[in-house]
Amino acid sequence: MSMRTPGAVTIKRPSEIDRMRGAGAILAGILEVLHAELRAGVTTGDLDAIAERMIRDAGAIPSFKGYGTNPPFPGSICASVNDEVVHGIPSPRRRVANGDVVSIDIGCILDGWHADCARTWIVGSAPREVSDLVDATRRGMEAGIAAARPGQRLGDVGHAIESVAREHGYGIVRPFVGHGIGRSMHEDPQVPNYGTPGLGLQIEAGMCFAIEPMFNLGGDDVFVADDNWTVRTSDGSLSAHFENTIAVTEAGPEVLTER
Ligand code: MG
Repeated sequence: MSMRTPGAVTIKRPSEIDRMRGAGAILAGILEVLHAELRAGVTTGDLDAIAERMIRDAGAIPSFKGYGTNPPFPGSICASVNDEVVHGIPSPRRRVANGDVVSIDIGCILDGWHADCARTWIVGSAPREVSDLVDATRRGMEAGIAAARPGQRLGDVGHAIESVAREHGYGIVRPFVGHGIGRSMHEDPQVPNYGTPGLGLQIEAGMCFAIEPMFNLGGDDVFVADDNWTVRTSDGSLSAHFENTIAVTEAGPEVLTER
């Protein structure tokens, strides 16, 4: 992957990060509710309706709804079940069952500033190898965030994430990556979930990133389904996805999408 020029990466002022913190707090609260609502028999459309109502009640705008073309994304969340990796379209016909692995991605805009985050949860219980995948994907995100400090490089972030997947032999999704975030949901730079230490853009205080590893129980490969959105594993293996929006401060990374 080619890294774009550092000049295109925006540095946010503290007052701007504060607006993003507000958007992130809305998402953190909604994810707590969605987690509590997730049980066998619930549809991903039910979760989408709850999320959209809560975003709008908070005075924010769902950033996913209407995003893109061919077709515009119809939901306020992405709901990706089992071998679906990311960008699953929520539906009142998609009922989850015990043992399903459900990844919920959500984004909103508050006063023109974005936040974006994702969690993967297991409905009821699942075999140990499944809960291990979910736990490792969260740890991959946390390792990437911990590496996002002033003076480090994006390759350090990607390497930290990749190292967690490698420990377990999980597949790493490469065509979909983290990103800068701010006035737009997707800003420069791209933040791959793999990398070489010491290479890539140098990280500075005021940069804001969405760091979002996707790990597969099987191989790396994925494809986009016929709906033009849903990304699935090529081998049908289970996948997990975690994402936080962070601000880099002089003291290190600050997570904006957790309480
Ligand atoms: Mg994202």
